[in-house]
Amino acid sequence: MAKKIILLGSTGSIGTQSLDVARMQGYEVVGLAAHSRAEKLLEQIREFHPRYAAVVDEAAADRVERELAGFENPPQLLRGPEGLRQLAGLGEADVVLNAVVGIAGLPATLAALESGTDVALANKESLVTGGHLVTQAVKAAGVKLLPVDSEHSAIFQCLQDAHSAKTLTKILLTASGGPFFGMKKEELAGKTRADALKHPNWNMGAKITIDSATLMNKGLELIEAVWLFGLPPEKIQIVVQRQSIIHSMVQFSDNSVLAQLGLPDMRIPIQYALTWPDRLPSPVGELDFAALKTLTFDVADEETFRCLAACKKAIAKGGLGPCAANGANEEAVRLFLEDKIGFLDIGRLVEAVVDSDTYGGTYTLKDVYDCDRMARDYVLSHL
Ligand code: NAD
Ligand code: MG
Repeated sequence: MAKKIILLGSTGSIGTQSLDVARMQGYEVVGLAAHSRAEKLLEQIREFHPRYAAVVDEAAADRVERELAGFENPPQLLRGPEGLRQLAGLGEADVVLNAVVGIAGLPATLAALESGTDVALANKESLVTGGHLVTQAVKAAGVKLLPVDSEHSAIFQCLQDAHSAKTLTKILLTASGGPFFGMKKEELAGKTRADALKHPNWNMGAKITIDSATLMNKGLELIEAVWLFGLPPEKIQIVVQRQSIIHSMVQFSDNSVLAQLGLPDMRIPIQYALTWPDRLPSPVGELDFAALKTLTFDVADEETFRCLAACKKAIAKGGLGPCAANGANEEAVRLFLEDKIGFLDIGRLVEAVVDSDTYGGTYTLKDVYDCDRMARDYVLSHL
């Protein structure tokens, strides 16, 4: 029987690459969800014939509804943020792949887990903002949370030998360094949206591309790794690997290191999350070591890239610290993409929000939303 998947964020970078994998593996796509790209979603509905489609943006949902009237077997349309949550929590698929961007993905992750469905998680913001709630939901439902983020997939792949995994002592989380690697504050001050959107190795959505330029992405991934693999943040070392060929490494008690390598193509980690524990042929090509010749390693410059320093402070504070850092970043990146603030303002604002409170302690979902709102308001009032 074909594997059944529900794909959230199907019109994005991870979403479309996930459909490449679904097409190749012959999966049944039970549901698709998108925010506002109606045309793209309709094209996907025509190809994959899902039973459900969720559209978050109201105007886009109206547009999709009008078009679906002419379909022979239209999917049931679900609307708004509640529609996204409903689709995630249907319990009618083997796995929900969450490729939504931002904290908007958190309620869907929780709904899927609570419905007893495994989740393949690209939406790192779910773990960053609500890691405590997500891990609790995984335990309570006895389901699996499979990493899609390439670094976390690499770590997960290196930990498949359960016997060695017990002796994990350190994670070496690799980072490309982004388009501004090696630059100092003076040079970064004038960087524009267009400069920051040019990533050297990966072709991704706008928000994560800016996060890669500020190194916020690596800070978010450090927090994601703490939740997924249970090591304290001081046992996770960030290593700049400019070619994005080594996707991360793990170290064991005997100081032996294992790495996972491959071309920088997200279809490998997406597919592994969907086929685990099996490996199947993938659409991605072989790594050509003769052409590659060199792999380089560098240290991340936290003095310059303050988002990374801010995320480390946030995870050390615990509780809602990471949620605050994330909320401030989402708002600051939105403003940067609208040319309303400068590149260095992103790090300044994220760090200021983290520094503004102690944040520790346990929390509820309402606390997460309140903290996210507070962080966004803080950013807007400190421009
Ligand atoms: P993207 O911007 O290309 O796509 C985002 C998707 O989410 C779109 O389908 C969009 O319709 C949907 N969406 C946006 N806002 C929404 C909302 N409020 N409610 C519901 N849906 C909404 O982003 P992406 O690059 O595909 O990244 C998606 C997630 O995967 C992010 O969390 C990102 O950090 C993570 N990720 C991406 C990559 C990559 O290579 N692109 C790699 C690792 C992790
Ligand atoms: Mg990553």
